[in-house]
Amino acid sequence: MDSPSASNSLAQDSAIVSASNDPKYFMQRALDEARKCTPSLSAFSVGAVLVDLATKKVVATGFSREREGNTHAEEVCFIKFDEDEQALSHQSGGQYALYTTMEPCTERLSGKKPCLDRIIQFGRISTVYVGCKEPSTFIAENTATKRLPDNGIQYLSVDGMGPECLEVAKMGH
Ligand SMILES: [Zn+2]
Repeated sequence: MDSPSASNSLAQDSAIVSASNDPKYFMQRALDEARKCTPSLSAFSVGAVLVDLATKKVVATGFSREREGNTHAEEVCFIKFDEDEQALSHQSGGQYALYTTMEPCTERLSGKKPCLDRIIQFGRISTVYVGCKEPSTFIAENTATKRLPDNGIQYLSVDGMGPECLEVAKMGH
């Protein structure tokens, strides 16, 4: 067994991610957030974490409806990041990965700004790791698989976590 060492940049094994850089670890953290949601009949229960790619640390977390105004998990991450940035002075110009248990919304029935637009505007996210696709329960078609790459942001599914992410997302349905 490999012991997770902090910064090996020798990773030549294509497609195999080292233990210290395991997307499943961060997706699990996002799932932990999702489980904090108050179940809702009319919305999904999603969790998200924002990870600083330089330090591999979670710098913000969020879950659906955590803040006032029917907030989405990714939206809450950005709210908290903005609140924290003044206090903690995160390195400006740093790059981040966003882990979300369900792909970011591209349309909202409420007319609020979709998370996809917020991700693009944030301007410092290189990859969005996704637990499961958005079912067509509320919005017919989520276009994140196309719109993220169109804006230079990688869309990656985290293998094997879809069913659990979906189950949690549908709490209360
Ligand atoms: Zn959203």
